[in-house]
Amino acid sequence: MLYKDYGKTGKKISVIGFGGMRFEKSGDKYDFDKCAQIVRKANELGVNYFDTAPFYCDDQSEEIMGYSLKDMPGEFYVSTKSSELDGSKLRANLERSLKRLGLQKINFFHIWCIMSMDDYKKRMSKGGAYETALRAKEEGLIEHLVFSTHCNGDEIEQIVQEGCFEGITLGYNILNFPYRQKGLKAAYEHGLGVATMNPLSGGLIPQKADYFDFIRGTDDQSVVEAALRFNGSHKEITTVLAGMGSIEQVIENTRVGYKIKEFSEEKLSEIENRLSASMDALCTGCRYCEKCPQEIEISKHMIAYNQKILGDVHKGLDWLKWHWEMTTETASKCIDCGYCESKCTQHLPITQRLKEISSW
Ligand code: SF4
Ligand code: SF4
Repeated sequence: MLYKDYGKTGKKISVIGFGGMRFEKSGDKYDFDKCAQIVRKANELGVNYFDTAPFYCDDQSEEIMGYSLKDMPGEFYVSTKSSELDGSKLRANLERSLKRLGLQKINFFHIWCIMSMDDYKKRMSKGGAYETALRAKEEGLIEHLVFSTHCNGDEIEQIVQEGCFEGITLGYNILNFPYRQKGLKAAYEHGLGVATMNPLSGGLIPQKADYFDFIRGTDDQSVVEAALRFNGSHKEITTVLAGMGSIEQVIENTRVGYKIKEFSEEKLSEIENRLSASMDALCTGCRYCEKCPQEIEISKHMIAYNQKILGDVHKGLDWLKWHWEMTTETASKCIDCGYCESKCTQHLPITQRLKEISSW
């Protein structure tokens, strides 16, 4: 496994990190022993960065992770997050995370999901999230204070220039790279460690493996391998967070960490020529937009819309009808309240897409 410096923290982190958002249920609940086998297998194969958060996997990911990491023999570092603006709420989140994870300190604690500069300012305000997290760091409850963001490149540049964080987690993958490089470069140039989330574009790359076959190099056994290798081979990226829900996925993902090789210029331009700006606007299925007052299941509609972006509107319709037993009429219930768009990590024009879907 290749290990890289996480910014200036002195930590050497495995190029493949464990994303704790894809544990799968056995029946209607999570089998903690089964999940622990997956986590421990990843550690055995060289992974030392384990990322979790409240809310992942029906809010059980931190507890699963805590159960799995207990007495795990290999070296490991844990990352978790809080999206609270208010200092006292963040403190409560941190204490709950420590308890669930069974740890004395969090190695990488994220000020989570900064959506805009306005949002950033709120996190940094007096008595707010950042100040409280910094105090917890002084107390030894946090080792490194980092952030995750869905801001654009210019905004990321402004944030990292202020020098308040040691690392960043951001969405970057082989389908959106031409549109996301600025923020990545700014973070690296300011000495931050960089974790990338969403390397498989919300699972779309393996789901549409035939469509995305053009990303594969001659040595890549699968599109998943190509996509992980792509992120891992960037000098700017320390670790690639891959969600792992089975031992097979652990084996497939970690294998990449042993044979990281850069993409040639020719291959990169071939890929770039096949991409369009609309691929930067694919829904990742993260579900941050849910809780619509009209009870529209937004992520399902946007995932169906992904099919249209990839050139197959009929398939989008099929997903809605046959996969989820929905009609396009549901989309017309939107009252334009704006809630979902304010939460969307991809800044998607959800209401406009719903209007379009309602006329399919
Ligand atoms: S804008 Fe429409 S879809 Fe979005 S939360 Fe409001 S009602 Fe629901
Ligand atoms: S619409 Fe946006 S917030 Fe909702 S699932 Fe898709 S990317 Fe995530």
